[in-house]
Amino acid sequence: MIIDGMADRPLKELGGKTPLEAAQTPKMDRMAQLGVNGIMDSIKPGIRPGSDTAHLSILGYDPYQVYTGRGPFEAAGVGVEVMPGDIAFRCNFSTTNDEGIITDRRAGRIREGTPELAETLNSMELEEDVEIIFKESTGHRAVLVLRGKGLSDQISDADPKYDGKKPKKVVGLDGSPEAENTARILNKVIQKSYEMLKDHPVNLKRTKNGEPPANITLPRGAGAVPNAEPFNEKYGVKSACIAETGLIQGIAQIAGMDIIEVEGATGGVDTDLGSITRSILENASLDYDFILINIDGADEAGHDGNLKEKIEFIEKVDRVIGKVMELEDVYFILTADHSTPISVMDHTGDPVPLVIKGPDVRVDQVREFNERAAASGGLSRIRGRDIMNILMDLMNRSTKFGA
Ligand code: ZN
Ligand code: ZN
Repeated sequence: MIIDGMADRPLKELGGKTPLEAAQTPKMDRMAQLGVNGIMDSIKPGIRPGSDTAHLSILGYDPYQVYTGRGPFEAAGVGVEVMPGDIAFRCNFSTTNDEGIITDRRAGRIREGTPELAETLNSMELEEDVEIIFKESTGHRAVLVLRGKGLSDQISDADPKYDGKKPKKVVGLDGSPEAENTARILNKVIQKSYEMLKDHPVNLKRTKNGEPPANITLPRGAGAVPNAEPFNEKYGVKSACIAETGLIQGIAQIAGMDIIEVEGATGGVDTDLGSITRSILENASLDYDFILINIDGADEAGHDGNLKEKIEFIEKVDRVIGKVMELEDVYFILTADHSTPISVMDHTGDPVPLVIKGPDVRVDQVREFNERAAASGGLSRIRGRDIMNILMDLMNRSTKFGA
């Protein structure tokens, strides 16, 4: 169970405590008392992890090998069944004028009509040996997947990043024929997207209502879908993922886990924790050997620099822990994927606390669950990639190294 971005740094306004130290967390503290504790560097000491690379590492993958950018995970997260070798992009629906200048990169933060726009783009004919898959995500966001032979993710972005500029011409970055080919195809896709969207009924309606039309798509962040060993085969388990964000769901999907959708999960501090708790308890009683859980709100509060919200959210999560830790004959790991300190408003490389509760763990003397107390526990300091090994060993499911 990963409480995203929960860990933090000491704050003057808390008398030198961290938000997790200041929060009232009787259930997490009970976990610490019943388990073996430690601190974890999800990638390695001092490395600032993204949520995606941290989760890959915690699931036992080497993010430096497997991570090819955010595109593939987002594409998987919005339900595109990506395959190894596909090139995936994050896209914006944007607004361009007749001169080809981007006047609004987010097309007035369009909220409605993007499924229809994506459906139209899905019928794009390029006379190339490539399959094109568009899928809308939230708001003005979408994903694009190119599927075919001879493609590369070593290409530049089309998104000019600022309004008032033309889309950038996509170019190959490594001089390979594959990169040149992919860049050429992508430039065609962008041009064609304008031709297909400019008089689309959704846009005619937007123009009539005085809203900027979503008449072009700007891809960025090319990434090849990694050839990751399926998690279930790697560990001989049947696994599932309960997560709120497309990014984490995408990681689970590429790892081959079952994705469990939770109603009312927003990824923010307003998320329906009751619904998440019910989903965890229901699915734990099914025949899964492993469930990855990610709750996102503490990270959001950290990015917003909102101390009050972060503490309140941690206290709410504590009640979820209280219910979930009642499950018997289960190894329960509670941790974070990285720190998102209020003072930094972004992820940092500070290690995070971790506790494992379950049959026959070597219970240590740690009485509270937080960044400092955990450091004196029986697990000492581990890396994200150690977790699955430790868990498999506790479950007597690992193979011996040597005679
Ligand atoms: Zn995170
Ligand atoms: Zn974050």
